[in-house]
Amino acid sequence: MNCPSCGAPMKLKSDMQSFKCEYCLSVYFPEKNDDGVRVLEEPSGHDCPVCTVPMVHAFLGRDPIIYCTKCNGMMLAMAMLESMIDEERSAHGVAAAPPPPDKEDLRRKINCPQCHRPMDAHFYGGPGNVVIDSCEDCCLLWLDRGELMRIAHASADDAASAPLTSGVDSTADSFNE
Ligand SMILES: [Zn+2]
Ligand SMILES: [Zn+2]
Ligand SMILES: [Zn+2]
Repeated sequence: MNCPSCGAPMKLKSDMQSFKCEYCLSVYFPEKNDDGVRVLEEPSGHDCPVCTVPMVHAFLGRDPIIYCTKCNGMMLAMAMLESMIDEERSAHGVAAAPPPPDKEDLRRKINCPQCHRPMDAHFYGGPGNVVIDSCEDCCLLWLDRGELMRIAHASADDAASAPLTSGVDSTADSFNE
């Protein structure tokens, strides 16, 4: 992206959260959008698997994601999901009951933005009834808009109402089916 003050190309700083202009030294810290995503106007080199527009680098909390500004879907490393759920919960607490799962998601076929092979659509192993898409080879997940929120808040609800159910080790094994 270019510097808002002087128009020179900006560099992503080492904290990966902000840009610095080497010419006028101003620092640009992208605002969060409605989904709590900080969009960096940096091309990711990957196209959105849903709407095929180029995606950009972005941050959700402190976690780097690849983000589609059109459909608000996001690509992330499988290993990050747990911490992102925690962050989402601590940021928003227990919200209203999540919407019902979208079974259409199971029928949808999208290709991995990285290796372009079909992703696996499956129910997330933990609570929340969310269908997520994953690529085992790339260890990537695709989350549609609001899916992270659904997982996070449904988990919290379930934990509060039924603490002894079995869905405790939710994420670790859920990708090995
Ligand atoms: Zn500048
Ligand atoms: Zn998209
Ligand atoms: Zn892949």
